[in-house]
Amino acid sequence: MSSIRTRIAPSPTGNLHIGTARTALFNYLFAKKHGGVFVLRIEDTDLERSDPKYEKDILDSLRWLGIDADESPEVGGPYAPYRQSDRTESYKNYIQQLLSQGQAFYCFHSQKELEEEKQKLLEKKLPPLHFCEYREMEAREAETLAQTKTDHVIRFKTPAGRKITFTDIIRGELVFESDLIGDFSVARKMDSALYHLAVVVDDAETKISHIIRGEDHIANTPKHILLNEALGFPQPLYAHLPLILGPDRSKLSKRHGVTSITEYREQGYLPETLINFMALLGWNPGTDQEVFALNELAQVFDIAKVQKSGAVFNIEKLDWLSGEYIRKKTQEELTKLCLPYLCDFLQFKIPNDQFQNEYVEKVVALEQPRLKKLSEIGEKTEYFFRMPKYDKELLRWKNITETEILTSLEFSEKVIKSKIQNPKSKIEIEKIFLEAIGEGDKGSILWPLRVVLTGKKASPGPFDIIEILGAEETLKRLERAKKIL
Ligand SMILES: [Zn+2]
Repeated sequence: MSSIRTRIAPSPTGNLHIGTARTALFNYLFAKKHGGVFVLRIEDTDLERSDPKYEKDILDSLRWLGIDADESPEVGGPYAPYRQSDRTESYKNYIQQLLSQGQAFYCFHSQKELEEEKQKLLEKKLPPLHFCEYREMEAREAETLAQTKTDHVIRFKTPAGRKITFTDIIRGELVFESDLIGDFSVARKMDSALYHLAVVVDDAETKISHIIRGEDHIANTPKHILLNEALGFPQPLYAHLPLILGPDRSKLSKRHGVTSITEYREQGYLPETLINFMALLGWNPGTDQEVFALNELAQVFDIAKVQKSGAVFNIEKLDWLSGEYIRKKTQEELTKLCLPYLCDFLQFKIPNDQFQNEYVEKVVALEQPRLKKLSEIGEKTEYFFRMPKYDKELLRWKNITETEILTSLEFSEKVIKSKIQNPKSKIEIEKIFLEAIGEGDKGSILWPLRVVLTGKKASPGPFDIIEILGAEETLKRLERAKKIL
């Protein structure tokens, strides 16, 4: 068994964001490629903002995507618990250790004082760092004061004048000055650890070997290295993934549209589409291949080949990939996937008798070559389930007159009544119509016919539609069109 262990540790303060899902995927792929273990932890130290409904969304979304954790709050594991709110005792011991070693101290500055200091520094265009004079306070005196002044925080005593260096797997050697870090807080009180301390303890106790996370965490890494040192933890290896950018090259956010996995799912993107799309956000195999299944990715993915620069989110590419995966589905599979969207759009219950399912399957199959996401199915195929509504002007082919439209509809009616009464295939219907039209103008017959059937400017051709709708329904629609004229 390889000793590689990676992790994702999302905060349940919102639905699973595509950026977090991409980080989860890269951790998962790296672990799988090297026979390692992928751990899922829940980072809920911020109890006020954390919400169980978001934890559920995160777990459900990862499961739907197929990014299965080897260890998690759900499946357990040898280093449980995997939820920060269950690990308070552990943090307490390490906070105590830092205080005893003289590497952490009580800061008694009030929120107001800290805020004023920050504003002054910002006005002078200096980084808003807090170098706290309480770090020199004698330990026993501080302990006593902490009993009465309970609004203190506990800060790490950041060493002065240190260079902190680490080799990022993606970015190479990175160097930080400890003097640009300040005395950062590690706990609000003994029993409420803050992010930096909690994450370092969690990573050490769940034996994480590789920390693969977003670029926005780079500035945290020197703090984590200092804490690992102070607590005697091994230093894991780090890889910082490029940010995901919107089309305008700013960080992807709500204003660019949908960002959570749940929303993509609701829009009718398939999990395999999103996996493939996310894998290409910052990584490429170095070949022309663009379509990858999850198990295939686990073989070819190479963390060292992840790019340093931001990964631009391209919705056209997502839709293209989505179409590719939709076309890989069998008619039966796709029908099953489309049915809830179709029923939602048409506001009726999922049909369960054989005939209706067969009918829906034919309708779905007709749109399969063009469908980009499942949610489009209702709007695209509504006319198969309801008499279409349209403006009679739409019936006009080029500049034929209303009388000519009427003649055209009567012609189609005659062809169907005389030759297409029994069910026929699309090819047979096409042959019958083309023979009947002969040297005549095809457009002036087929355009009005198609509009009568669909009410749409663009749709599949009339022969495909007649094959599915059948002669009786086609005649009904022709009859109605004649009345509209
Ligand atoms: Zn202070």
